[in-house]
Amino acid sequence: MRHPLVMGNWKLNGSKHMVNELIAGLRKELSSVDGCGVAIAPPVMYLDLAKHAISGSHIALGAQNVNVNLSGAFTGEISADMLKDVGAQYIIIGHSERRTYHKESDEQIAKQFAVLKAAGLTPVLCIGETEAENEAGKTEEVCARQIDAVLNTQGADAFNGVVIAYEPVWAIGTGKSATPAQAQAVHKFIRDHIAKKDANVAAQVIIQYGGSVNDKNAAELFAQPDIDGALVGGASLKADAFAAIVKAA
Ligand code: PEP
Repeated sequence: MRHPLVMGNWKLNGSKHMVNELIAGLRKELSSVDGCGVAIAPPVMYLDLAKHAISGSHIALGAQNVNVNLSGAFTGEISADMLKDVGAQYIIIGHSERRTYHKESDEQIAKQFAVLKAAGLTPVLCIGETEAENEAGKTEEVCARQIDAVLNTQGADAFNGVVIAYEPVWAIGTGKSATPAQAQAVHKFIRDHIAKKDANVAAQVIIQYGGSVNDKNAAELFAQPDIDGALVGGASLKADAFAAIVKAA
C-alpha cells in the first residue's frame, strides 16, 4: 500500500530566521496530520538547523543535491554520507533546474541515484519534459529515457522504496500546472514502464507530481490513482499553503 509524500523544495531561499519560523508554522499546522509523509528540503547550509527544528515532529528532512563522490578533492560539493550524517533522508536529484543550469546528464543522475541507495538514503528522482518536447509529442519518450538511465543499469529492484517526481518543466514555477488528467496519464505511463520489468516494484513506487501545485489544485491532482503526493516549490515557502497541500493528500 503506497502512502503519498508531500515534499517542499525550498531551492535557493531561506535564512536562519526563516527556517525557524517556517518550521514552527508547519509544526503547528500539521500537528494532527496522519497518513501522508511530509518532507522539507532546505538549502544544505540549513540542514542541521532544520533537523533540530523538526525534532519530535513527523516532518522528515531532505536535501536538493548530492555529489557522486564520497570524499576527496571536490571543492564545494556535499556527499551522501554527509547528508546522512546530518539526518537528511529524501534527496532530490535530476531536478530540471540542475539539468539545465548545471548540465547534469541522465548518466550522472543515475550515478547520484546509486550513491544515495548505497548510503541508505531515498532518491527523489525528478523527470519530465520541456515545453518544446511536450509540443512535439515526446513526453513519454523523454520520461522513459530519464527512467531507463537507472532502470537499465541498476535494475527494477533499485526503485524499491524510491520516490519519482514527474515534473513537466513547463509547469515548474510558471503557475501553469498540468491538468489532473494530463498528469495522471504520464504517471500511469511511468508506472507501466517500470511494471514491464517488475510489477511489484512499480505498484509500490511513489510517483509525485510537481509543477505549480498549490492549495487550490492539489486535491484534484491527488484524487488521481497514480499521483502519490507532490514535490512543491513556491508554495512550500508558506506554512499555511504547504500545510493545505499536505492535508489535501
Ligand atoms: C519544483 O521546483 O520542484 C517545483 C515543483 O516548483 P513549483 O511548485 O514552484 O512549480
